[in-house]
Amino acid sequence: MENIKELLDENKRVNILREYQILDSPPEEAYDDIAQLAAEICQTKLAAITLIDEKRQWIKSQVGSELKLNNIPLSSSFCVHLLGNKDLVIVPDCAKDARFSENPIVKNGPKIAFYAGVPLVSPDGYMLGSICVLDVQQRELAPYQLNALKVLAKQVMKLLELSKINHELLSNRNRIETRYEELERFSYAISHDLRGPVKNISALIGLLNLQLKSGSEEDIKQYMIKIVKESDRMNKLVADLLEFSLYGKKQQVKEWFSVADILDDVKLSMEQKLRENNVMITYSETISRIYAVKSDITRLLQNLLENAVKFRKIGTPPKINVMCTEEKEYWKLSVQDNGIGISKEGSEKIFEVFSRLHSNERYQGTGIGLATCKRIAENHDGRIWVESAPNEGSTFYVLLKKNL
Ligand code: ADP
Repeated sequence: MENIKELLDENKRVNILREYQILDSPPEEAYDDIAQLAAEICQTKLAAITLIDEKRQWIKSQVGSELKLNNIPLSSSFCVHLLGNKDLVIVPDCAKDARFSENPIVKNGPKIAFYAGVPLVSPDGYMLGSICVLDVQQRELAPYQLNALKVLAKQVMKLLELSKINHELLSNRNRIETRYEELERFSYAISHDLRGPVKNISALIGLLNLQLKSGSEEDIKQYMIKIVKESDRMNKLVADLLEFSLYGKKQQVKEWFSVADILDDVKLSMEQKLRENNVMITYSETISRIYAVKSDITRLLQNLLENAVKFRKIGTPPKINVMCTEEKEYWKLSVQDNGIGISKEGSEKIFEVFSRLHSNERYQGTGIGLATCKRIAENHDGRIWVESAPNEGSTFYVLLKKNL
């Protein structure tokens, strides 16, 4: 039990570290200046600002090139010993300290003798890395030097916090810009696409009027049927549009759930359609549970499955394979079909609202389903795309970020 708690805690620590988007970032003067100050104040040959992820020590800044401290495994890291330690660690003679004596940089070249490190602690109390000074000679630090090292650690944390805020501002700005472009496309699409049925209804009523004077009962009936059909289409368009535009307005709660379970629910809701069309659905997974907005993922799978059935090849029973797998930072869902496929140009357009590649006579729809799927993926800090070719079937992929 204790091990599981530690593991979850370590996962949380690494997730918090990743939020700073600092790992593998290019060198920055502000951090270099702080490392330089640490070396000068403590009068050591080496100083570094380190960050510790799940498997390596990564260096943001280093003074002194005698030693390669970057990207070393945790087993050879000095700073990893600060994990779980909220205070300074000072080792005047590394050869005599059981934690460090067997370390290659102590035992072999360049024979590091002295180490002092202060942890970089996030506001929620997680140790992310350190600012440290090292030397090949045994040393001691005066209280003012120790204090300075602690102050510098605080400054590094402030820099990290500031750059995190900057990243957030930048990504919010990008999000607003994308939303604005979407809104422009959306307004155009509304005025263009909603007018279609309205124009048709108006023309049909004109024709009906003529028929009322001289036409047969059968002709009048046919016009009435067409008017009802166009009104139904208009109704569906407005309902889908409303759902699309209201999406994300309600507070959405993420939870752990089984993808196989929601797939069963979706299959149940489509039971008749699946039976009528002889559809075969297979499912495979390498991870069984994901953490996401359950109603969103149900909607997403429903849209993708309905399309996989709708855009089937004539004379070929639909075969659909759903997969749930895991990548480092994402859960990945995929829905593969053996349907009519999509051209390369089409694949880029279909996620925009009202974008349809076929006439309504051939395949009925509103062109809102995939735009909703895109919103759902983006709402999970992920994305959706399709790999397909005409007549070769399609595979839709969805990445959902593992934001725990
Ligand atoms: P709708 O299904 O209401 O037309 P969508 O937004 O769900 O709207 O899909 C947009 C368009 O993308 C569809 O009209 C169709 O041209 C294309 N499409 C979607 N899914 C598939 C698929 N599985 N196979 C082939 N084409 C597809």
